[in-house]
Amino acid sequence: MSDNIHEVYAVCYATHGRKRSENYIFGDPHDEMTSISYYVWVIKGPHGTFVVDTGFDEVAARERSRMLLHPVGEGLKALGVASDKVEHVIATHMHWDHAGNYDLFPNARYHIQDAEMAYATGRCMCHQMLRIPFSERDVHAMVSKVYAYRCEFHDGTDELAPGITVHKIGGHSKGLQCVRVKTKRGHVVLASDCIHLYSHIDEGRVFPITYSVGDTLEGYKTLQKLASSRHHIIPGHDPTVLDLYPAANAELKNWVCRVDVEPKV
Ligand SMILES: [Zn+2]
Ligand SMILES: [Zn+2]
Repeated sequence: MSDNIHEVYAVCYATHGRKRSENYIFGDPHDEMTSISYYVWVIKGPHGTFVVDTGFDEVAARERSRMLLHPVGEGLKALGVASDKVEHVIATHMHWDHAGNYDLFPNARYHIQDAEMAYATGRCMCHQMLRIPFSERDVHAMVSKVYAYRCEFHDGTDELAPGITVHKIGGHSKGLQCVRVKTKRGHVVLASDCIHLYSHIDEGRVFPITYSVGDTLEGYKTLQKLASSRHHIIPGHDPTVLDLYPAANAELKNWVCRVDVEPKV
């Protein structure tokens, strides 16, 4: 592996059935049942292992009626990543489905945008509608990490290691950030919830949970600038990611795939 070239994996851990119309502001004329998938992502390279987001655990899955398929720790283990050895976790944002499992990485530093921490702990959380995607437990856990000197704050764009940068996008959550990774096929952008599904960016549509529609739409342009092509953008919840990209190995089919290689398009 040459300098600054990384392997990138999408680790699926849960699924949820929902009507297609629930995925878009203004709904969708095709009102059939569909599903969304839940992922964390792993970046492996010459600068160590970076885990992007921490998912949710069984308790949270039960509370919000989601189907946990493989606990996050198991997915990481299957990839040869011992969670207690991970030194860097990138928190794209603090929504409950991205910021749980907070004891899984006891030795990691957490990279988060200033704006996200301010949003999750400030006046906007006095509004029920904005609070829905946050879990008080997760936010408390992140505050504890701040006081334990385990958070690294970023404001806008920052380089975490050569070939790995974070970029504030906002929109869906006020301090949402994406991650740009240099790979052998070019720059892959882990969009997390900057786009939940490919259809959001392809059709200029917006997921209903949104702090700012304007910033969400502008974010689509930024993602396109950051990624080597549209096929280098990895959405946060699209089930087709597991079909488009090859499994990390035969045993991990429909569970963990490699997104630093060309998709089957
Ligand atoms: Zn989110
Ligand atoms: Zn999400």
